[in-house]
Amino acid sequence: MDPAKIIYVDNNATTAVAPEVLEAMMPFMTTWYGNPSSPHPFGDYAKRAVDHAHGQVATLLGCDPDEIIFTGCGTESDNAAILSALEIDPKRRRIVSTAVEHPAILSLCDVLRRRGYHVDLLPVDHHGRINLDQLRGLVTDETAIVSIMWANNETGNLYPVEEAARIAHAKGALFHTDAVQAAGKIPINLKDSVIDFLSLSGHKLHAPKGVGALFKRRFVPFNQFIIGGHQERGLRAGTENVAGIVALGQAADLARAHMAEERTYVAGLRDHLERELLASCPDPVVNGNPEHRLPNTTNISFKYIEGESILFLMHPFGICASSGSACTSGSLEPSHVLRAMGVPQIAIHGSIRFSLSRFNTRAEMDVIIAKLPPIIHRLRQISPYGR
Ligand code: PLP
Repeated sequence: MDPAKIIYVDNNATTAVAPEVLEAMMPFMTTWYGNPSSPHPFGDYAKRAVDHAHGQVATLLGCDPDEIIFTGCGTESDNAAILSALEIDPKRRRIVSTAVEHPAILSLCDVLRRRGYHVDLLPVDHHGRINLDQLRGLVTDETAIVSIMWANNETGNLYPVEEAARIAHAKGALFHTDAVQAAGKIPINLKDSVIDFLSLSGHKLHAPKGVGALFKRRFVPFNQFIIGGHQERGLRAGTENVAGIVALGQAADLARAHMAEERTYVAGLRDHLERELLASCPDPVVNGNPEHRLPNTTNISFKYIEGESILFLMHPFGICASSGSACTSGSLEPSHVLRAMGVPQIAIHGSIRFSLSRFNTRAEMDVIIAKLPPIIHRLRQISPYGR
């Protein structure tokens, strides 16, 4: 596969490291490789770089630098927030989340159920929306934490996290949001917010894999998840991934500086792609809530065919997207998000997620618009469902 010919529209899976990010992080793997804990100027240089990155990520989120804890990934941030809330108040043994969370939350909830905790997962409607009155009914005086994602990775749906946080607080519960897909794509201002914890991940915003961050509001009690040394003010042990942290800081700066213009640019590309595919493919359906979604995501079902086959036939054109059914142990496992939305099986299996970034171009969209409809028509003709 020639990397120069790839049309990468799978940015909710991971993103390219931005050139400026790579440039910023490289010296910390070559020249300035010191340990931030070392008591000499070489270590101090790394420490100052980590401190600076705290400020950069805090500026992106509108919080204070000491409210940012660097972690290894979004999954770690999610786990750390929830497990901490359960440890802080052992009498509260209930968790509320949604049926459409990422496995970083849902698999943890499964484990917690097996450990005897009570987990309620809010259902969603056919657009993937939650009902706040239903949330109100689920949160009790025994709820330790409510965790609701800011943006869904499959549909791009945005959730009313601020209102949800208020509902959690009314019963004395903490509130966490998985903002792994939202951070860097839409404005977040935690100063005007009551959210207690927020997770993000470097590789979703043009920093490398292996670095994440957890926002923990000042004075919110916290039990550290990774225990050991005194790094991150004693809240997350382990020698810092200095290069990754510097990269995340730089990526946060870039995201903030270009957010407004990128939102218009990327949403414009997405809308062009979506409009043209809807016009040229047989009965397509957009999954999710078109009114409230990320600017970069569209999830379209092409009924009666397999998403995996669509992906396979797009590969020769270099088009890399993702499908709503994942291949696990030889069988196609339909997306839990689309299932929770009540999307019929016949449409789930033929769903494709296109997730864009600022590195995509209109010419790339036009290649997809030209190549995909014939693939859909061809697959429909040979569909075992006889369409
Ligand atoms: N949460 C959401 C919504 C995600 O999309 C992802 C990754 O796809 C994660 C959490 C996990 O992040 P990481 O890959 O950094 O562990």
